[in-house]
Amino acid sequence: MNLLISGCLLGLCCRYDGACRPLPDNALHALQEKFHLIPACPEQLGGLASPREPSERRGGRYYSRSGEDVTAQYLRGAAETWKLAKLFDCPAALMKERSPSCGFGKIYDGSFSGVLIPGNGAAAELLARRGVRVYGESRIQELLAAF
Ligand code: SF4
Repeated sequence: MNLLISGCLLGLCCRYDGACRPLPDNALHALQEKFHLIPACPEQLGGLASPREPSERRGGRYYSRSGEDVTAQYLRGAAETWKLAKLFDCPAALMKERSPSCGFGKIYDGSFSGVLIPGNGAAAELLARRGVRVYGESRIQELLAAF
């Protein structure tokens, strides 16, 4: 079974700061025993570089810290990520929490002050709307138990 996964959780340096947030080895091995992992970085797929300015969601739009409207790149990245999920027939996705693309359930409020609010990143939201079950990295055990 295929599982879509945020590239930065696999150790790809695709984050805005050029870094990654790899999962602990034991979690990665547990996932690999059950799934074929399909990595995707929605922000890179939307045409953004690594490193890049951080961005946050405000309402239905996305802005970089300096105020550039990057909504088109975020929506394109979400659409491309959905294409991958569909192409590889992924029933679920493990997505990096709090990201304006990958976060699901809680994201930053758009003020760049570290405040979290209920909401979803662009890609996680589209995947969930299309029927993919989206999990954050704090819910890996739940994901493993569900499949
Ligand atoms: Fe990681 Fe998603 Fe941000 Fe890419 S868009 S760096 S995969 S959290």
